[in-house]
Amino acid sequence: MDQQSIIELEARYTSGVYPKRPLAIVRGQGARVWDADGNEYIDCVGGQGAANLGHAHPAIVSAVAEQAARLISCPEIFYNDRRAQLLAALAGVAPAGLTRIFLCNSGTEAVEAALKLARASTGRSGIVAAMRGFHGRTMGALSATWNREYRQPFEPLVPGFAHVPFNDLAALERALSDNTAAVLLEAVQGEGGVHLGEPAFLRGAQELCRERGALLIIDEVQTGYGRTGCFFASQHYGIEPDLMAVAKSMAGGLPMGACLIGPRVAPPPAHSHGSTFGGNPLACAAALATLQVMAGEDLPGRAARLGARLLERLQALRSPLIREVRGLGLLVGIELKTKVTPILQGLQSRGVLALPAGATVLRLLPPLVIEEEDLERVVGAIAQTLEVRRVA
Ligand SMILES: *Cc1c(COP(=O)(O)O)cnc(C)c1O
Repeated sequence: MDQQSIIELEARYTSGVYPKRPLAIVRGQGARVWDADGNEYIDCVGGQGAANLGHAHPAIVSAVAEQAARLISCPEIFYNDRRAQLLAALAGVAPAGLTRIFLCNSGTEAVEAALKLARASTGRSGIVAAMRGFHGRTMGALSATWNREYRQPFEPLVPGFAHVPFNDLAALERALSDNTAAVLLEAVQGEGGVHLGEPAFLRGAQELCRERGALLIIDEVQTGYGRTGCFFASQHYGIEPDLMAVAKSMAGGLPMGACLIGPRVAPPPAHSHGSTFGGNPLACAAALATLQVMAGEDLPGRAARLGARLLERLQALRSPLIREVRGLGLLVGIELKTKVTPILQGLQSRGVLALPAGATVLRLLPPLVIEEEDLERVVGAIAQTLEVRRVA
C-alpha cells in the first residue's frame, strides 16, 4: 500500500482520539524507521518510550518467534517457564526489596495495580500525586494524572486524589493525612515536560511516607529500562519505593506492564486483582530477552554516556527560541519560547521524528541503541529548525 492509501483507509475507521501526523511508518531497524514511500527517519519518538532496544532487535525477534511457536496463552492460574525466569530476572535488577511482581499489559494497568494494592494494604483511600504528573488513562491512573484536557471529559473521577506542586516537599507534607494510602510520583516527569525530581524532594517523600504509614509509589513507566542512565531512575536518587510501576520498554516493544511490590505492602487477598493477558508467555519471553540485551549491551550505561553528550550539545545551541534544555540520560526536553508543533514538523521534514511534552516542550526519546552519528544529525536538524545563530 502506498502512503496516501494507508492514511485514507486508517483515517476512515480510527477512533479520533489521536491527532495523527500524515505519515505511515511501515518498517524499522535500530533507531531508524521508514514510511510507506521509502523515506528514512531518525526515530526520537522511540515508540513513545517503548522502543529503548530499537526496532527489530534480533534478540527480540528470535525470542518472540520461538515462543510464539511454543506457547502464547497461559493464564496465571498455571505456572510457566518463561514467566518464572522473567520474574526472577526482573527482581534481580529492581531496587532493593521489590521482589514480588504483578504482571499486566500497559503502564496505566501497572499504576492501577499499585493504587489498588496501596489501598488494600493500608486500609486508607487517599492518594497524593504531583501537578504535571502523568500516570495513564484508565479511571484510577487518570485520577492521579494532572492534565485537565485528559481528565475533564470523564469526570467525576475516582475520589480521594490530591495534587501538590512537584518538588515542593512542604506542600507534600501538608497534603498527607491519616487517610493517605500512598504518594505517587515520577522521578522525572516525562509527559508533563521533562522535569527532574530534586533528590531532596524524592528522598523527603520517602521519609514522610515511612513516618506517616503511607506507601511510596514511583511510576517508572517512562524512566525505567535504562532510559535515564540507570536501570531505574529511582537508583539515581537512592530511593526504595514500596511499589513501582513499569511498562513501555519492558518487553522490547511488546505490550507489557508490571507492578513491583516491596516488603511494606501487605500481600493482597486472593482473587482481589488479576489480568487475562498478564504474564502471558509471549510477552514474558520478550521481556526476558530485553533484560538480557539491557545487561549484555549495557544500555543504561550507553544512555548515560550518549545522554550527557546530547545534553551538552543541545545546551550549547544559541537560539532565540530556546528557553531551557534539561534531561537525564536519553530523556531530554527542550523548553521553547514558541509552540512545539511547527518545530516538530520542521524536524520531520529534515528526517527526524520527535515528541512534544506539553505545548512548548520538545521531547527526545531515542532508542538507547542509537548511533552517536545519528544523535549528531538530530542536533544538526534541531539547530537548523530553531534557526541557531551560533553553535558553541
Ligand atoms: C506512558 C506512561 C504511562 C501510561 O502507560 P500506557 O502504557 O500508555 O498505559 C504511565 N505513566 C508514565 C510515567 C508514562 O510515561
